[in-house]
Amino acid sequence: MNARRLDGKARAARLLAEVEQRVRACTERGVRPCLAVVLVGDDPASQVYVRSKEKRAAEIGIEARDHRLPATTTTDELLALVAALNADRAVDGILVQLPLPPQCDAQRILLAVDPAKDVDGFHPDNLGRLMLGQPRFVACTPQGCMLLLADAGLALAGARALVIGRSTIVGKPMAQLLVHADATVTVTHSRTRDLAAEVAQADVVVAAIGRPEFVRGEWIKPGAVVIDVGMNRLADGRLVGDVEFAAAEARASAITPVPGGVGPMTIACLLNNVVLAAERRAGLC
Ligand code: NAP
Repeated sequence: MNARRLDGKARAARLLAEVEQRVRACTERGVRPCLAVVLVGDDPASQVYVRSKEKRAAEIGIEARDHRLPATTTTDELLALVAALNADRAVDGILVQLPLPPQCDAQRILLAVDPAKDVDGFHPDNLGRLMLGQPRFVACTPQGCMLLLADAGLALAGARALVIGRSTIVGKPMAQLLVHADATVTVTHSRTRDLAAEVAQADVVVAAIGRPEFVRGEWIKPGAVVIDVGMNRLADGRLVGDVEFAAAEARASAITPVPGGVGPMTIACLLNNVVLAAERRAGLC
């Protein structure tokens, strides 16, 4: 078997085209969707992420307001900015780029973001709603994974789904979404005894570990669908996922490449959340 590649670039482009139309509908009602992006310090990777989020936003008519603060910013200063953005009716979504410098209390900052503007879906209120099956904003990467899974054409109901990784931004919300899609879900992590045996039983594998090609291709059940969230930069500059791609591709029925799989979906889903917030402000939903 040679797996179908789930093309995240093409899927993200389709989603962005749809989001762009919804941006237009909001703007026609006098509500221009607006994302406030807060970046503290000069971490090069964060600067790249923020630039590409703002660029994509501008391309589809979303206003991106840039708030760049020095690396010495304190928690109180950041809380004051978040409070001002919460109070600003023209701002639909607030994104605080992580990681924050060590003197900033990230938990306090994320808690301070108005849950109705938390387009990252990281606030406990939004995570709790997801758990209840009544989501307001779904975290962007798991949301993107679900759209790619839909493209794989596999019926999730009753399928065995394995999530590798239990972070709050990927693994845990991913597992919740799969539970709500009626999959039988197993969550694994660094203390899991026999990961290979868990992978071998799974009809769907979502890998979010952060270790290059850690999931061996030979572990994959023939015909399984593989979603690789991992983004690992090797010493030679190559970007690889958490799954041994070539060997997994030979066994899976569908697989996401890295790059060009989950990555492009994350930004598209962020902008999807921003327009959702704007639609609420415009009374469109
Ligand atoms: P994270 O917070 O570091 O979590 C990693 C998870 O992997 C943890 O739950 C950890 O278990 C688990 N893990 C570590 N070693 C393991 C092992 N040997 N066996 C099984 N599980 C193991 O990372 P994250 O933020 O979720 O991100 C994961 C990866 O996805 C990274 O490569 C990141 O760059 C990538 N990512 C990509 C996107 C995108 O848009 N494509 C977005 C977000 C993240 P413990 O909990 O026991 O420590």
